[in-house]
Amino acid sequence: MQSGYTITMSAANPINRDRLVQTFLDLVRINSPSFAEGEIGSFLAERLQGLGCEINKQDYGRSFNLIAVKKGNRPGCLPLMLSGHMDTVEPTVGIVVQADDSIIRSTGATVLGADDKSALAQIMETLEVITENGMSHGDIEIVLSSGEEKGLEGARNLAFEGIRSSHSLVLDSSGPVGGIVVGAPTHITYEMTITGRAAHAGIEPEKGISAIRAAARVISEIPDGRIDADTTANIGIISGGTATNVVPRKTVIHGELRSHDAETLQRTKDGIFSTAHRICGELGARIDITEQEEYRAFRISGSNPFLLFMINVFRACGIEPAVTISGGGSDANIYNQRGITTLNLSTGMQKVHSGEEFIMVEDLCKGAEALLQAVKDFAGFRPSGMAR
Ligand SMILES: [Zn+2]
Repeated sequence: MQSGYTITMSAANPINRDRLVQTFLDLVRINSPSFAEGEIGSFLAERLQGLGCEINKQDYGRSFNLIAVKKGNRPGCLPLMLSGHMDTVEPTVGIVVQADDSIIRSTGATVLGADDKSALAQIMETLEVITENGMSHGDIEIVLSSGEEKGLEGARNLAFEGIRSSHSLVLDSSGPVGGIVVGAPTHITYEMTITGRAAHAGIEPEKGISAIRAAARVISEIPDGRIDADTTANIGIISGGTATNVVPRKTVIHGELRSHDAETLQRTKDGIFSTAHRICGELGARIDITEQEEYRAFRISGSNPFLLFMINVFRACGIEPAVTISGGGSDANIYNQRGITTLNLSTGMQKVHSGEEFIMVEDLCKGAEALLQAVKDFAGFRPSGMAR
């Protein structure tokens, strides 16, 4: 059976460009680094409440997630989850925004924070338009996460038992509107602590075991960079030693691995860890390795009805969709892992995490138009096999 959704071919979506830009500017002017989302959360909660949403601020210790539900006015629709994150990378303090009719950017000393405030603005504008026009829609669950830039902390701690949607759009990808991220890798971080033996470097170096030299051998022998099309490895931090006249006793290496393929990931990781153990064994040093899975890979298949739905939404808006795989993680990894079919859409933001970050006003609007179209069309979405 074919998916039974219909596409509203149309029609200029009634996005209010000035209001959308103003919302975005209001949001970027609120400083909201990870785990300091209080002010932006209050701003958003108030706006969402004004739009008839039921608000639930879900505290998880380090910060909170903001969950807002806009009740549907059309029975029989599936609920749809829309999500973005409230936090930004730093620096953001004292942000000065440069905006004209076509482009919005920071002045270079800070990031702009379009990652992910472009998403927040597009979600707010979509809700504004459906509310003021009394449009027909199903329940919309808005999940605004925190600490995304610090290991997806908010999404990880989301109270999933309160979420009813089994389909979600995360708006947290950069590049032109139309981008749909359908896959991201598993990400593992690890810490190797190498312990040798300290000795005076001038008097009795023979009695020492240099943890720095052991680390150097480990690093030079393990695979690094791009391992294959699906897999990357990196050593990102190394620290150790106390003084030039001491054979260093301790060195700590922080590294990471990412792969879209579980088996390659396992094999690469085993190779790195066993090489490190062998080298340290040969040198008489001790090694302790701890690892953490930051998030797990996901891959939405090309025939997934929700993906096909979103492709059609973009086409209905005159936007050419671009289905891509990402090398980085997002809240979409967590949501997919928790059984919510989630696509990560581009908001139009560019050069994120840099002082050159910007967004074209046209892209900000296009992203909101596509999201509005998605919310409207989703009211008619029935995954294959479901009774109408
Ligand atoms: Zn982001």
